[in-house]
Amino acid sequence: MHIKELVLDDFKSFGRKTRIPFYEDFTTISGPNGSGKSNIIDSILFALGLARTSGIRAEKLTDLIYNPDDDGAAFAGEREASVEVVLDNGDGTLTRSQVVNAAGTDSVGDVDEISIRRRVKQTEDNYYSYYYLNGRSVNLSDIQDLLAQAGVAPEGYNVVMQGDVTEIINMTPGSRREIIDEIAGVAEFDARKADAMAE
Ligand code: ATP
Ligand code: MG
Repeated sequence: MHIKELVLDDFKSFGRKTRIPFYEDFTTISGPNGSGKSNIIDSILFALGLARTSGIRAEKLTDLIYNPDDDGAAFAGEREASVEVVLDNGDGTLTRSQVVNAAGTDSVGDVDEISIRRRVKQTEDNYYSYYYLNGRSVNLSDIQDLLAQAGVAPEGYNVVMQGDVTEIINMTPGSRREIIDEIAGVAEFDARKADAMAE
């Protein structure tokens, strides 16, 4: 399974609907400083529910909505951001029943392609966040459970962020070992062992 396309709409610096194709093996995104490369990575973490707001460089969810004002002044009225991640599931990484289960309905269409979309909407006095799986409204936990079955989890190391490599180099050996345990899947067993010992 791999990301096939991203569709950003009013997400961060993407003030108009932008489609970004991804290739099967390797995709490079290049551009000058501040042109939005990291925002593209943030959009994936946002849509797939893989990071807290701080992890995608925002204080609050509504900071993710495109703001045309350079001074960052709040923008009156309703506004919203949307990110869709289209996954190529042609290799059957996720089965139809896994997708049906997560969506809570049989009518998920063809699962060769899986669409995960998130919107954040701001109204005058509140904000709302919505997730969709192949167009069906779902909860964050439905998305997270589905992705976990494909080996993608919020606590996993699926995304290496800017600065992560330096951070890993500067860690104590003990902390570095924890990361390796996490990647190797040992950490989960350590946690279960600790739970069992506590009982
Ligand atoms: P670098 O090469 O320095 O890492 P980059 O290409 O990764 O740069 P980003 O960090 O993705 O750049 O983009 C930063 C830009 O996104 C900044 O100019 C910032 O003002 C803009 N930006 C962030 N949030 C919003 C928003 N809500 N509305 C409009 N622009 C935004
Ligand atoms: Mg960057």
